[in-house]
Amino acid sequence: MKISEHIQIFRRSIHYLFSLSRAHMVSLILSNILQNMLPYIPIYFSARLLDALYEGQSADRLLLLVLITVGSVFLLSLANAWLSAIQSQASQEMNRNQNWEQSEKAMQMAYASVEDPDVTLLRSRIAVESQTGYNLWRLIYCTKQLISSFTSVLMSLCLSVSFFLLDTVPLSGKLTLAGGFLLTVVCSVLTGKKVEKLTNKFLASCVRMNEYDNNYSYIGHYGNGKDIRIYNTADSLLAFDRQNVHNFNQNRMRLNIKTAAIKTVSLIYSHLLRFVIYLILIQTALSGGITVGSIARYVSCVMLLISASTEFFADIQKIFANNPYMKRYFSYLDIPNPMYQGSLTVEKRDDNEYYVEFRDVSFRYPNTESYALRHVNLKFQVGEKLAVVGKNGSGKTTFIKLMCRLYDPTEGEILLNGVDIRKYDYDEYMSIFSIVFQDFQLFAFRLGENVAASPAYDPARAVQCLKQAGFGERLAEMPGGADSFLYKNFDGSGIEISGGEGQKIALARALYKDSPFLILDEPTAALDPVSEYEIYSSFNQIAGDKTAIYISHRLASCRFCDKILVFDNGRIVQRGSHDSLVAETGGLYESLWQAQAQYYTGETCATA
Ligand code: ADP
Repeated sequence: MKISEHIQIFRRSIHYLFSLSRAHMVSLILSNILQNMLPYIPIYFSARLLDALYEGQSADRLLLLVLITVGSVFLLSLANAWLSAIQSQASQEMNRNQNWEQSEKAMQMAYASVEDPDVTLLRSRIAVESQTGYNLWRLIYCTKQLISSFTSVLMSLCLSVSFFLLDTVPLSGKLTLAGGFLLTVVCSVLTGKKVEKLTNKFLASCVRMNEYDNNYSYIGHYGNGKDIRIYNTADSLLAFDRQNVHNFNQNRMRLNIKTAAIKTVSLIYSHLLRFVIYLILIQTALSGGITVGSIARYVSCVMLLISASTEFFADIQKIFANNPYMKRYFSYLDIPNPMYQGSLTVEKRDDNEYYVEFRDVSFRYPNTESYALRHVNLKFQVGEKLAVVGKNGSGKTTFIKLMCRLYDPTEGEILLNGVDIRKYDYDEYMSIFSIVFQDFQLFAFRLGENVAASPAYDPARAVQCLKQAGFGERLAEMPGGADSFLYKNFDGSGIEISGGEGQKIALARALYKDSPFLILDEPTAALDPVSEYEIYSSFNQIAGDKTAIYISHRLASCRFCDKILVFDNGRIVQRGSHDSLVAETGGLYESLWQAQAQYYTGETCATA
């Protein structure tokens, strides 16, 4: 990475930290400046005091110097204590804001990015790097160190620069001191670079061990799994994990030993220089070039100048070492969301006359060669009940994903009331859909909150939707009713629900949203046959006057729909009512129908 890029990333990082918490950053900067000014006050005034004593000045003068020393240290310490309190309080705010920002990014990212393997890799890389210590908190720590070392450099420079202006000090002494100082700094920069290189190598090996982390969490996740026990997989999984941990520790040990060896050389060098400084200063004092008090002051300040400038450059290197992480972190935050480009508002219609039309739509998932949808042409009639059927992988879910703008078509366009859906404001467009996905998600909040998808909900309406979705009986058994918590994460008396019950709650949530379009993707997959029959036989009533789309591979459950679309290999190969499609002998629908019918008893087929 070039220096200019490092500087650019650092600037953005600081800007970003300020945007997360201005209070934290301001208090951090001020408190570190004050904290690092503190040691120089006693150094300066002690030298003055020693000189005053040596010169035999009055007791009042001596007392005044003591008062100034103690008073200024007291005031600075007091201000620092309060600033530290503010900083500690604000660090919570910063932490929270950063977590929010990351969660918000993950939730608002275009769905195409969520499923993009490159984004997944980037996310896991950021996570691994955070675990190995390269992250935003390291940046804050390094920035704090940088402010400290910079303040110390400035203070020690101010207090030692007069040494170089003294006529009484021989030029050779000044040059030796300045040269030694420069050499020490160069030496420390080179040492730091070497350590950074080693650390990066180690970090790269950690990232390569990404599988280790995945494997580790995989094992943790399945720690109480049934299959692990039945098939006795624990030993082999743990052996793999142990090997990875062993490799990790070996790598880390090698890094630590090499780093310590490099630092030893650097320490020997800088302490030799210290020895030379002592000699020069004592020699100058012996020849009467500086006062007794000044010896203490210059010794302390020059020593501090050396260590502070060494630290200053080391801190810059640490920030640079952290920059690749920050670069990745920002590239994650910068992932664009093309879904949010549209700005048209969706016309609010009391008559729910929303026409959605697919016009020659084809679609290929990112980074794939084959088309998941091919030349789909379709116009929904308002209030129509439409079933989408087909074998697994025929494109049914993809069709819905496109309709809900989780992806944009590769070719063709989708129109809402004659306008390309990309032109609409994304949230506005989404407001016309209620969808129950196969992999729906419920939260460990109150049942009513889950149904309303919001902390504020209308209890009567929530209950009505739950009943409509077939959850009435179970609800009646719950003492807390719609106020009961789902799961036990936040409430010990929370209720555990089965997959089928979850599906009913998800359906109730879709009904509560009351959007003009109701889409159910395999809504009965986890239901028992009785519940399944209840749902699809009352589907028309549940959907009311909404335009409803019902995806299922169980043809029996689609009979109640006005129209059935048959997908095969990404194309709509047949469309029509159940009866007309069954009558198309040799058609895909008829063959699927026959194949499925033989698995039902005569009675089930009759009810279906
Ligand atoms: P269905 O819902 O009919 O089972 P899908 O719409 O899920 O079928 O899938 C249609 C095709 O698209 C399949 O070949 C599937 O493998 C592919 N596909 C689905 N999701 C993705 C994805 N995220 N990335 C790449 N290909 C996908």
